Amino acid sequence: MALVVQKYGGTSVGTVDRIQAVAQRVKRTVEAGNSVVVVVSAMGKTTDGLVRLAAEISANPSRREMDMLLSTGEQVTIALLSMALQEAGQPALSMTGAQVGIVTEAEHSRARILRIEPDRLKHHLAEGKVVVVAGFQGISSTNELEITTLGRGGSDTSAVALAAALQADYCEIYTDVPGILTTDPRLVSDAQLLAEITSDEMLELASLGAKVLHPRAVEIARNFGVPLVVRSSWTDEPGTWVVSPPPKPRSLEGLELTRAVDAVEFDTDQAKVSLLRVPDRPGVAARLFGEIASQALNVDLIIQSIHEGNTNDIAFTVVHKSLKQAEAVSSAIIPALCDGDPTGMDAEVMVEQQIAKVSIAGAGMIGRPGVAAQMFTTLAAAGVNIQMISTSEVKVSCVVMAADCDRAIATLCNTFNLTSSPYQELGIRELPLSDSSSEYSKNATPHSVLPPVRGVALDSKQARLAIRSIPDRPGMAARVFQLLATKNISVDMIIQSQRCRVVNGIGTRDIAFTVAQMDGETARLALEEVRPELSCGDIVLDTAIAKVSIVGSGMVQQPGVAARMFAALSQHQINIQMIATSEIKVSCVVAEENGVRALQVIHAAFELSGDRRIEVSA
Ligand code: ASP
Ligand code: MG
Repeated sequence: MALVVQKYGGTSVGTVDRIQAVAQRVKRTVEAGNSVVVVVSAMGKTTDGLVRLAAEISANPSRREMDMLLSTGEQVTIALLSMALQEAGQPALSMTGAQVGIVTEAEHSRARILRIEPDRLKHHLAEGKVVVVAGFQGISSTNELEITTLGRGGSDTSAVALAAALQADYCEIYTDVPGILTTDPRLVSDAQLLAEITSDEMLELASLGAKVLHPRAVEIARNFGVPLVVRSSWTDEPGTWVVSPPPKPRSLEGLELTRAVDAVEFDTDQAKVSLLRVPDRPGVAARLFGEIASQALNVDLIIQSIHEGNTNDIAFTVVHKSLKQAEAVSSAIIPALCDGDPTGMDAEVMVEQQIAKVSIAGAGMIGRPGVAAQMFTTLAAAGVNIQMISTSEVKVSCVVMAADCDRAIATLCNTFNLTSSPYQELGIRELPLSDSSSEYSKNATPHSVLPPVRGVALDSKQARLAIRSIPDRPGMAARVFQLLATKNISVDMIIQSQRCRVVNGIGTRDIAFTVAQMDGETARLALEEVRPELSCGDIVLDTAIAKVSIVGSGMVQQPGVAARMFAALSQHQINIQMIATSEIKVSCVVAEENGVRALQVIHAAFELSGDRRIEVSA
């Protein structure tokens, strides 16, 4: 007999008919010999309706009262579903977040779960009842009984947290799509349903996948090894399994990480090759990395920054033993890259051996502005200069001088409170892949056959800011991103160029980054204000950009994956404006008008197309 947690989203319980259909499915699960805990959302768009009601009364309602209001939506559903189960002859009872002992931070409207005291719930389960729990809500402490909510979309998080606390066999998330797809089917008609995805991949796809699965739920599933499946409530199809490696033993106390960063990682076996001032036109990155891949050289970080005029800097890192070859390939290809192009005449290759990559990682940084800034500030305070920056949803990596590495790690561990020192030389390249397949739970594919690319995502809602010629000294990135954090602006992709120009005797760099389109102008104005203090050049805002990303754990071990992405873009004459990578993700910024097409050609290039059309409502 298994213990199963099932979660039904708003559309799945949107009407009385649907609630009755859910009751039937729950009943069948019990009849198959399982104990079932059900977590539900508010019916349909109830929560949005409640938000509108509040807005009619107050422009700035108290967050406490908002939680009091929004938590009622789920309570309607639990009562109705329990009645439907009882009508169907299935003993059941409803429980609020408080009653099942979901204890959270005292942070109204965005509380994280601290612990669950499930004794009451277990007692009812033992009596053979289905327990129907209100998702999205908890209480601040068992004394205060203040109702809190977990943030919009939080009922996924309630479900997975309960599954972790009850050590359930698995958690099923029922929704109105058949599972997780390779990309957005409204933009790519042959998007395919995935049988499985790793939790790390899912987190990197947060901006794409968040609509299907709350990233915090994925984080809990990963940290506690909860097998998780996303399925359609309308069919019996198997859906998509989100698989995780076996977790390190972890206490249920502080269940959701309340901190943003849960590891500091470093890699000293890195050397950097930079190509400076290569022409800015389609095909350059494709040719360079195509050549590198054909020599079977595995590239780790890739960064391409934009530049004034019409040239780019491209920099990448490789392991030391590949450096000579990577340098030779790069030098040899420069004439071809610049062929007949006068702008490329002063292109050159530069290598640096004594570097280290230092990263902070953690799903907690999603949606929290200021984490990257905190990293930069910490490094600046320790006098560590940052040479390269590359960011993804759940990681910020900085390339620094090798001699600064130890100091950087020590100070970062201190800032992010990682006293138990989980950091280690990760040798990232070997990290997730050297384990055997048995280490992945539930139906996992062996690592050796993990696809290089699992999904492709497009984000057209971003704007890019470029700060020209900012002095190359510790503290500049910190200043910039701290300022944005105080304005509550989340920064997505950050790229710092190679040192490019000497202005008044000081070396300078360009820093470019992307923010949500709606924050673009605010960010520009804020930076414009401190321009004298930064003593930098122009600040340029471009809202007509799009970001396309590929994500896949299998790319770590396969050379040439980024090259294939660049080649697909180049074949279709799509110019790449910026490149940033993390271990399992490559992102390119392109012109907005090319976004959808870029998504389509990349999806096709990795042969992700399915032969079955997936219907998804708009
Ligand atoms: N009802 C809440 C919302 O709409 C929580 C959820 O559905 O996950 O955000
Ligand atoms: Mg949801």
